[in-house]
Amino acid sequence: MSRAAAYRPKCRTCERSRRPTDLMCPRCWALVPEDLQREIYRTVTRGSARQSDAWTAAVEKAVAIVEAALKPQSKPEEGPA
Ligand SMILES: [Zn+2]
Repeated sequence: MSRAAAYRPKCRTCERSRRPTDLMCPRCWALVPEDLQREIYRTVTRGSARQSDAWTAAVEKAVAIVEAALKPQSKPEEGPA
């Protein structure tokens, strides 16, 4: 049994573990808009740690959307009234 098989990576936006082949846990991934999910699948380089700028940009966008969605909904509007 290799070390890699026991490796349990964390979701990019929360503390839950995800599958090594996934970017996020299923809950966070579900918050990513479908067109952005498709963009990530389309631009990913399989079998390589090196990813394209297009993929990195799409992932950063997805992470920002999920992080915004996960924030507590305490204030309904941005900035002072
Ligand atoms: Zn997550």
